[in-house]
Amino acid sequence: MTKGITQPDLALLAFAREIRSKAYAPYSNFRVGAAIFAGGEIFQGVNVENAAYGSTICAERAAALAAVTAGFTDFDAIAVVGDSDAPTVPCGACRQFLAEFNPEMRVILGGKTDAVEVTSLDVLLPDAFVRGYLDQDDGEDEE
Ligand SMILES: [Zn+2]
Repeated sequence: MTKGITQPDLALLAFAREIRSKAYAPYSNFRVGAAIFAGGEIFQGVNVENAAYGSTICAERAAALAAVTAGFTDFDAIAVVGDSDAPTVPCGACRQFLAEFNPEMRVILGGKTDAVEVTSLDVLLPDAFVRGYLDQDDGEDEE
C-alpha cells in the first residue's frame, strides 16, 4: 500500500494534522483533519458532526468543498489525519466524492502516531464511478 513518502507528502500531512484541532466532533470525539493540494494551493477541512447524525460531513469532503469553492476541481493530493492509532483512511463516501476530482490522486494518511501511509485513490477505490459513465452520444433517449 505504501509508496515512497516525500517531503511534500509530509508538508501536506502537517496541514491536515494542524487543522484537526478545529474538528467539530461532540458525538464521536473522533477528530479528523484533511488537506487537499490543488492548483498549487492547499485547502483544509475538518469533520463537522450534527445531532442529526446523517447530516455529518467528513473532513475530506469539507476540504474538497473549500477547493471547489475556490475554483479548483483537479486535485493532486489529499492528506488525512484522524484520531486512530493506525493511519486513518477515508470512508467509502469520501472515496467516491474525491474520485470526481481525480480518481488517481495521491493520498497521504496519518493518525495519532508517527506512522504514515502513502497510497493513491485508485488503490483505495478501484473502478470508481466517474463522469465518463454519464457520457451520451446524442442526449436523446433510446428505445
Ligand atoms: Zn468520509
